[in-house]
Amino acid sequence: MSLKFNVGDLTIHRAIEQETSFFPALELLPQLTPELLGENRSWLRQAGALDEEDVLILCFQSYIVRTPHHTILIDSCIGNDKQRPARPKWHMKTDDTYMRALTAAGIKPGDIDYVMCTHLHVDHVGWNTKLENGRWVPTFPKARYVFGKSEYDYWSEQNKKAEVPPFADSVLPVVEADKADIVGNDFAIGDHLRIVPTPGHTPGHVAFAFGKGKDSAVFCGDLMHTPLQTLHPELSPKFDVDPAQAAVTRRNFLERYCDTDTLCCTAHFPSPSVGKIKRKGNAFTCEAA
Ligand SMILES: [Zn+2]
Repeated sequence: MSLKFNVGDLTIHRAIEQETSFFPALELLPQLTPELLGENRSWLRQAGALDEEDVLILCFQSYIVRTPHHTILIDSCIGNDKQRPARPKWHMKTDDTYMRALTAAGIKPGDIDYVMCTHLHVDHVGWNTKLENGRWVPTFPKARYVFGKSEYDYWSEQNKKAEVPPFADSVLPVVEADKADIVGNDFAIGDHLRIVPTPGHTPGHVAFAFGKGKDSAVFCGDLMHTPLQTLHPELSPKFDVDPAQAAVTRRNFLERYCDTDTLCCTAHFPSPSVGKIKRKGNAFTCEAA
């Protein structure tokens, strides 16, 4: 399994926390019909994206990008010791899979200069913090944590109405520790990282484009969850805050990177999770790297 990619002057590592059957396809994608699933079942199974019970297999992982100047961690996964009663596979986890994956990639928490979140959902912020003497503290002690302003503002408002646990235990403690930078979409890191606004899944969802002078790699977060959505960009998961906008964003994104050399690094596609976007009929495929 590929856990490391080199492109231009970047090295990209994957640190996998879980890769597992997660959502029944017909439940996650409300517009998916049994007929359409039937047409796609065999290639999805071959790609490791669908199990024998038609449950979608998702990978939960962070990407760590080394540029010549910085080490940047993208999306911090699920985390340990967190109250997630609705998700048994995530609830009060205590395993060391994630930290071992970082170690295997030669990365220590103290090496991370930036933690970037494509959005602030539960499986993208978890390792922002760890439990220490009963308190949530930043896991990556030297990092600046970069949150998009519109995403941060949205969840801040939601959290005022009723506590949003991942925001309360994995975002606010970072802000309170004075480690957060709340940024606009013009934020960049040198000439190596740019923000690509990709709203829909959440209001402030963003992708991150890396590479000097061109997009060598793009990290697209939850713009899509399963390779089925490259062939059917109109299928929006039930978690998309604005499913219609998400579908438009998804198609525009796929069109932008179609038939380019850009490595598309997805949050949740089954391993290797990384590929290049190619045109197929009126839609697209992601050809595994
Ligand atoms: Zn996600």
